[in-house]
Amino acid sequence: MVDLFEYQARDLFEAYDVAVPRGIVAQTPEDAEQAASALGTPVTVVKAQVKTGGRGKAGGVKVVRSPQEAKRAAKAILGMDIKGHTVRRVMVAEGIDIAEEYYFSLLVDRAERRWLAMCSTHGGMDIETLAVEHPEALARVAVDPRIGIDADKAAEIVAAAGFDEADQARVAEMLVKLGTVFVAEDATLVEVNPLVKTGSGEILAADGKVSLDDNADFRHPGHAALKDISATDPLELAAAERDLNYVRLDGNVGIIGNGAGLVMSTLDVVAYAGADLPGQPKAANFLDIGGGASAQVMADGLGIVLSDPQVRSVFVNVFGGITACDQVANGIRRALEVLGDKAVHPIVVRLDGNAVEEGRAILAEYAHPRVRLAKTMDEGARQAAELAAAAADEQTGDVSEEA
Ligand code: GDP
Ligand code: MN
Repeated sequence: MVDLFEYQARDLFEAYDVAVPRGIVAQTPEDAEQAASALGTPVTVVKAQVKTGGRGKAGGVKVVRSPQEAKRAAKAILGMDIKGHTVRRVMVAEGIDIAEEYYFSLLVDRAERRWLAMCSTHGGMDIETLAVEHPEALARVAVDPRIGIDADKAAEIVAAAGFDEADQARVAEMLVKLGTVFVAEDATLVEVNPLVKTGSGEILAADGKVSLDDNADFRHPGHAALKDISATDPLELAAAERDLNYVRLDGNVGIIGNGAGLVMSTLDVVAYAGADLPGQPKAANFLDIGGGASAQVMADGLGIVLSDPQVRSVFVNVFGGITACDQVANGIRRALEVLGDKAVHPIVVRLDGNAVEEGRAILAEYAHPRVRLAKTMDEGARQAAELAAAAADEQTGDVSEEA
C-alpha cells in the first residue's frame, strides 16, 4: 500500500479533472514564499505535508496574506512533529472562500467484497469523530466494483447524505470523477475532507487522501515516483534493493535466518532469552534470507544488519534445507572480509541441516574473533541476548567501546 501526500493527491486529482485549489509544494521557507507569489492570490494556505490527519488542529495549517507571511508560516511548520511525523515539505495552496465543508470517501470493503462510499454534509472534522458525533449524518452506500460510481450511484450517494437539492448535481459530478480516479489508479482509498463548497457555489476537493494498491504497480509505471523515499528507513530501502526480506524493529539483537517461520520463532526465542537480562535485549530486525540463499545473499544480509546503529550482537540461525550451510558460512566469511574493521559486534551462528559439517568447518578454520558457533537455537539465542546486554551495559558505563 502506498499512501500519498496531500500534494500528490492534489496533482493526481487535477489530472482527472477533479476541481482542486492550485497548490505548489515547497521544502524551504524561501520556496514557500516564491510559491505564494507565483500563486498570486490575496490569501494562501501553508499546509504541512505529513501522512496523518489532524494537521489543522496540530498547527500544521496556516492561512496567510502575503508571500512574506507564507515564508514565516513555512519556517514555523517545517521541522514540526505531527503525531510522530516530521514535516519535510509544505504545500502552499491558494486560499479558498469556504462556505461549507463536506466529507467523501470511497474504499475497499473487504469483508463485504465490494466498495463502500461514505459521504456527509458535516465535513472538516475527522471521520472517526464524525462517525461518533453525527452517525446519522454519515451516509454509507455500497458500491459494486464492477460498476463503480456512475451517475446513478453518485445521485444515490448525495441523496443519502442529504445534500440540498441545489448542490446535488454538482457534488454528484465530483463523485463520479473521484470514482474514476479510484478505478483508473487502482486505489484502495480516495478520501476528500473537506470537500468544499465555496462562496460562489463551486465544489472543490480541498484535502485529498489517496492510498494506492502496490499489487497493481505493474500497470502504473508512474506510481514508483510517488513512493516516499525520504520517509522510508534507509536500511529497509537498501534491503529492498537487494531483494532481502527485511523489517526493522526496535531491539538490539540483529537476526538473520532462512524461512519466515524460523525467523519469527527466532525473534521469540531471543525475546524470551533476553527477558531476564538487563535492558531486556530483543530483536533489532526481521531478516529472512529465504530458501537456497547464496553466499552473496548472506553477505548482503549481514552487511545490512551490522550497519544498523542499534545492533549490539547478531544471531544467524540457519536450518539448511535448500539453503546449504557451507554457502551460509562462506557468506558470513565474505561479509566479514568486506566489512573489515566495521564488523565490531559479536556474531553467534547456529547452523544445522544440509551441509552442516562443511559449514561449521569453514567457520572454524576462518576463526574470526567476532564469530562464535552455537549448537542449538536456544543456546544461540541466549548467547546473542547476553552479548547484547553486556554491550549495552558497557556503553552506559565509562568503558569505551572496543573498535
Ligand atoms: P487536516 O486537518 O489534516 O485534515 O487538514 P485540512 O486540509 O483538512 O485543513 C484543515 C482545515 O483548515 C479545513 O477543514 C479548513 O477549515 C481549513 N482550511 C484549509 N484550507 C483552507 C483555505 O484555503 N481557506 C480557509 N479559510 N480555510 C482552510
Ligand atoms: Mn482534512
